[in-house]
Amino acid sequence: MTDTQFQYIDGEWRDGDGDDDLVVRDPAAPDDPIVSFTGASRSQATAAVRAADAASETWAAASPEEREAVLYAVADRIDDHHEALAETLTREEGKPISSSRAEVGRAAELFRFFASFARTAAGETLPSSDPETVTYTVREPLGVVALVTPWNFPIATPTWKLAAAVATGNSVVLKPSSETPMIARALVEHLEAAGLPEGVVNLVVGSGSTVGDAILTDDRIDGVSFTGSTDVGRHIAATVAERGLPVQTEMGGKNPQVVLPDADIEAAADAAAAGAFGLTGQACTATSRLIVHEDIAEELTDAVVARAEDIEVGPGMEDPDMGPAVSAEQDDTNFRYVEVAEAEGATRLTGGGRPDGRADDPGYFIEPTVFGGVESGMRIAQEEVFGPVLSILVVSDFEEALAVANDVEYGLSASLFTSDMASARRFTEAIEAGVVKINGTTTGSQIQMPFGGMKASSSETQKELGHRAYEFYTHRKAVYRTDP
Ligand code: NAP
Ligand code: MG
Repeated sequence: MTDTQFQYIDGEWRDGDGDDDLVVRDPAAPDDPIVSFTGASRSQATAAVRAADAASETWAAASPEEREAVLYAVADRIDDHHEALAETLTREEGKPISSSRAEVGRAAELFRFFASFARTAAGETLPSSDPETVTYTVREPLGVVALVTPWNFPIATPTWKLAAAVATGNSVVLKPSSETPMIARALVEHLEAAGLPEGVVNLVVGSGSTVGDAILTDDRIDGVSFTGSTDVGRHIAATVAERGLPVQTEMGGKNPQVVLPDADIEAAADAAAAGAFGLTGQACTATSRLIVHEDIAEELTDAVVARAEDIEVGPGMEDPDMGPAVSAEQDDTNFRYVEVAEAEGATRLTGGGRPDGRADDPGYFIEPTVFGGVESGMRIAQEEVFGPVLSILVVSDFEEALAVANDVEYGLSASLFTSDMASARRFTEAIEAGVVKINGTTTGSQIQMPFGGMKASSSETQKELGHRAYEFYTHRKAVYRTDP
């Protein structure tokens, strides 16, 4: 494999032969490209689907032991190459190296967790109404699944889809974000080195509109799992809907953290700052709205602003508290939303500019930003920024807090800080979110817990991750067997 070979089709590394010229940049130093290469063509994308289709029958018939062994071997390889993978991730995505180390460690953990599906994605035997007939269900792989993934968790997200798919006997065409192809390629290299048979996993790197479309309109695809923006997710769901394929779309969020007067204010401020500014706000579960009771609004606002101002921003390799935005596009979006919020009449309490000493730095740096005086109808309270911009909304009671929290199109993650059990219970019942935290950050999840949102955040709630993630990647067949 050479530096420019990003396409892995039927067990061979190839240069792209499409029309897209792709450039990988370090968001902390974007003026010096890391690598330039040509994206895949539509015909390469089609060849990848064909290869996955050709491999699928044999892989579906492979023993559970064989599938499990490959996935454990990948996990071991990830552990053995942990630091190199973390550096690759930080160089192209920008997050602090300690965050990349954690993500790479999580990828290994995900491979081990999903490896167990090879043996446990089971059907069940049910009581039969007819004593001569045995009634049971079996789980069968879908066949070929297309996985389309974003840049913000560029090894963990492809892994949690791919490992679940491969463990349950599917073959895969992975289309990662063009912003982060190096870590996707490294992941696939480790799958190859671990002994995964040719064609079971294929990698196609190119712009979503070209190669994504070629993959998704191919009749040999049997299912699609997508994570990314709501617009693209809806487009993908519509593209495959007419063929009736299983499709899973995990999309945007506008996640609230509600804080009541009986809460631990210091803990609530810590969580808000971590949830809003960790990963530069580039998490689908990032905290973007802090909804606070008027009795503690001033105290909590001061505490959050102090934390924001304490955050050290810098290149990911220097392991700061917060790295740059991923791309020039996201950098523009961040500063545009600062203008939008000010034009709407919100009050900038801190941040909103380049950090001190970085006015002429080409890196995509922004200070952690907090707006006060935000009303729920404002764009800054409704639209996903995907950057380190937190809006504070003040309410006068818990029911108003709930109404404001639910007053967005999204419903991914939500948190409540309180010491009152009744409020905690009311919140878990009334909040429109797929992931609910009591006294915790909106970000962060455990891999054995299901993940996914409601409303515009997800096509179906909680189909990813968790001990039943195999359901998406398998058909369930009901069998009635009567002995002759
Ligand atoms: P994006 O622009 O929607 O892209 C996601 C993936 O879709 C990329 O691989 C992209 O390829 C591809 N794509 C774009 N247009 C396509 C098309 N017409 N057909 C097929 N594929 C297409 O999202 P992003 O900017 O990478 O990521 C940020 C977004 O992801 C945010 O909105 C965030 O909330 C969301 N997100 C959601 C979750 C969740 O679990 N709910 C998790 C993380 C992120 P190219 O970019 O290479 O063209
Ligand atoms: Mg994009």
